[in-house]
Amino acid sequence: MLPIARGLFSSLRAGPRPSGRLLKLRPPPIAKSSSALGQFRQFSSTRPKSARYFRFEVDPEQPLNYRRWSTGTQVFGGIVVLSVAYYVTHLETVPETGRRRFMDVGPKFETMMAEQSHHQLLEEFRGKILPPDHPLTQAVRDIVTRILDASNLGSLKADSTLKQQAGTPIEDSWHADVQTREGPVPGSGQREWRLIVVHDPKIVNAMASFGNIVVFTGIIPVARDEDGLAAILGHEIAHVVARHTSERYSSMKVLIAFATLLEVLGLDVGVARFLTTYLLELPNSRTQELEADVIGLRLSAKACYNPEAAPEMFNRMGKLEQAQGARLNVDFLYTHPTSESRVKMLEAFIPEARSIRANSSMCIGMQEQFESFQEATGPPDHPALMNPLKVAIIGGGPSSFYVASRLLSLVPPTGTQQLRAHIYDRLWSPHGLVRYGVAPDHPEVKNCTHKFDQAAQDPRLKFFGNVNIGGPTTSSPSAISVPIESLLSKYTHLVLGTGCTIPVLHSALPPSERCIPALEVVHWYTNHPSKPKAPPIDEAQHVSIIGQGNVSLDIARILLSRPEDLKQYDIPERVLSHLAKSTVKRVSIIGRRGPYEVAFTAKELRELLDLPGVVMDPLQPEMLQWRGDMKPTRQQSRIVSLLERGSKEKAKGPGDGFKSWSLEFFRSPTGVVPTPHSVSSNLELSLAHTTLDAKNKAVPTGATSILPTDLIITSLGHRSEPTAHWYDPGLGHVRNVSGRVIDERGNVLKNVYTSGWASTGAKGVLATTMMNAYDVAQTLLSDAREPMPEARAVMNGKVEEGTLDELPDEVKRGLETSRVITYESWKRIDEEETRRGTALRGKERERMEWNEVERYLQDAQRFNSR
Ligand code: NAP
Repeated sequence: MLPIARGLFSSLRAGPRPSGRLLKLRPPPIAKSSSALGQFRQFSSTRPKSARYFRFEVDPEQPLNYRRWSTGTQVFGGIVVLSVAYYVTHLETVPETGRRRFMDVGPKFETMMAEQSHHQLLEEFRGKILPPDHPLTQAVRDIVTRILDASNLGSLKADSTLKQQAGTPIEDSWHADVQTREGPVPGSGQREWRLIVVHDPKIVNAMASFGNIVVFTGIIPVARDEDGLAAILGHEIAHVVARHTSERYSSMKVLIAFATLLEVLGLDVGVARFLTTYLLELPNSRTQELEADVIGLRLSAKACYNPEAAPEMFNRMGKLEQAQGARLNVDFLYTHPTSESRVKMLEAFIPEARSIRANSSMCIGMQEQFESFQEATGPPDHPALMNPLKVAIIGGGPSSFYVASRLLSLVPPTGTQQLRAHIYDRLWSPHGLVRYGVAPDHPEVKNCTHKFDQAAQDPRLKFFGNVNIGGPTTSSPSAISVPIESLLSKYTHLVLGTGCTIPVLHSALPPSERCIPALEVVHWYTNHPSKPKAPPIDEAQHVSIIGQGNVSLDIARILLSRPEDLKQYDIPERVLSHLAKSTVKRVSIIGRRGPYEVAFTAKELRELLDLPGVVMDPLQPEMLQWRGDMKPTRQQSRIVSLLERGSKEKAKGPGDGFKSWSLEFFRSPTGVVPTPHSVSSNLELSLAHTTLDAKNKAVPTGATSILPTDLIITSLGHRSEPTAHWYDPGLGHVRNVSGRVIDERGNVLKNVYTSGWASTGAKGVLATTMMNAYDVAQTLLSDAREPMPEARAVMNGKVEEGTLDELPDEVKRGLETSRVITYESWKRIDEEETRRGTALRGKERERMEWNEVERYLQDAQRFNSR
């Protein structure tokens, strides 16, 4: 073997690339004894050791005339031409980034390497591998599964061998009583991945190649939380997605050829090795690392993890390296770029990643996962606060409670860490959309209130219901009014969690008796204090719902369910009795785009398909055909396969007499008039037929049709109230950058933040809101430790000694007269509602109205003072 080729092989053996830096050096485990490597070795060892350089014999008059070359030179020239042709024909583009590269390794080789590597890893880490049911393995597994799922990259293999191979039980501080989660998700890509979590706190590393992912427990503290670990895993998975190890195998051949050429040309071995290493191998390796950073950022954002966690994690990694003196700050000498260059590059991609995350449908289910990770790893460490924080949060919905609970968990209640979080809501009860938005037959969604109850037990958190901070009073007639200025002078920080409470209306369908916004229907069946009228479903056979989001499906489900199936839930008695009088037989859910563009999610569609006694109108197979250039997303494929299932079921369905529903695609309303002649319907809804343009927007085809109907419900989404502070009419929500509120000139307002739908618009499910709120809490605390110099002050910013618990005068008076509801009062009402529900017929709860609440609390007070 040529000396230089030997050196190159030893670098090829490095196999998978570690994330960040491997702080404890160890022999790389993968590809150690691959047969391919063996073949290379045999091939190269046939070269005589004595050959040092080659003499070119050409005609100096006509150097390019190959006929005049010596035979040896001709053979050499032929090899070079063939090699160049081979190289050029094996150039390809990395699909994710457009980078050109040489690749001559195929899928068969990769499959073989995946299997071999897996066995080697099991062997190497025998006795140190955490079992599959260990909470930490579960937590890492959940993150990997989510990243794979979100981008349809395949599934994690449930590896029973790990259980036996895990060896002697490891003393652990994580309690092991965790249920095994779901296996691979059907319908995902074909690739099978494997995960090994190695218990070695000294190794700060993770790596992946050929579908084998290895995580060392030493990296968990650096990852700090689930987002940080997702950043690491996204990066490692990205190496596999971009086939970096295969690329290294391929490029190694080029390096060997290049080195051979240099040696043949008589270059000193040391110089040749230097040139190939520093000009080709290391720069290529750093390119791969940066590429994995970008792809990984996209993958983790698509899986709904916080993109900002990636640069933060590399920052921490850089500090750790510096602390351990692990490397100089010079890229040139290393396989990995410096943490600084990575952070800089990642930050440039954050806006793109944020938008990927905002549009990701994969945020469902994150809440549970996030919490399980925190349970397994414990809360992250944070430096102490310099000054006390007194945070006023406007809005008592889930985003506000999540911000508050996150602040409480990040700032431990010690003598030096002073924090207060006061939540104000104009409604008398807490939990916003969880109480007044979630459909009654989705009780499991309301489980998040247990977490809010838990947070409210911390004396640093207070809730003040029935307090309207400077807004209109129509939706909360009983609330006391407090100007926002009263808060600005009493608190150091303000968080706007006021949500999106205004329904988007359709210009062609102004609200009327028979054309009502979906929010009114939702508020009717949740007993909202604004007390909207009951929809006239007792005079309607056909209901048209405009818009194809989850709210549309919630309403359709409630209208088509048998009242006896709803009786057990948190649905008021008067609503149930009105539903019992319903004459609705058919619901059409109308969308301006197609089945691949619907806004509802698979779970809600499945529930509608599974409603007893209700059938879906079958859809034509052509309607469900995919026409895009790229593959449909996993979410799209799920929806369409459910629609295919629903379309088939109709054929074997029981026939007439049942309630039915349909999805009407590519239809956009242009107007509605009372039916002039027909007695069978009340209204005529005009619909323009649409198609999709190049940007996937609905455009009219010119064709139209009329749909006879009795009741129209517009369900087109929501926006914030225009009277909300720092509202941006163009955006439909509060103007902000990453949760920091900005004024109309783009100045950051010091200590003013916004979270949840008030900051993003009405999108995403509850888990999306939770993650957004957690990010805002994190930002608020980071700013409190390192204030932004250019921010504009609108708040007092400081609290005087001993005034941490002081409240605005209006609130104090409201508390004295019991107009303001505290969390303790709410818990009493909560108990009473539950008691009333149980007493009725074992239903979930029977909701109270404000006048009942007032009476109940007064009675309770009288009783207590006796
Ligand atoms: P959404 O998801 O934004 O859906 C709005 C629908 O209205 C879309 O189909 C949209 O179509 C359509 N639309 C908007 N403007 C239109 C126009 N001018 N003409 C015709 N169609 C129009 O809104 P949502 O259903 O109110 O839900 C809001 C958020 O709450 C969503 O994130 C949702 O997932 C969440 N939510 C979740 C649940 C649950 O998890 N069960 C329940 C309720 C709500 P285009 O796509 O063509 O714009």
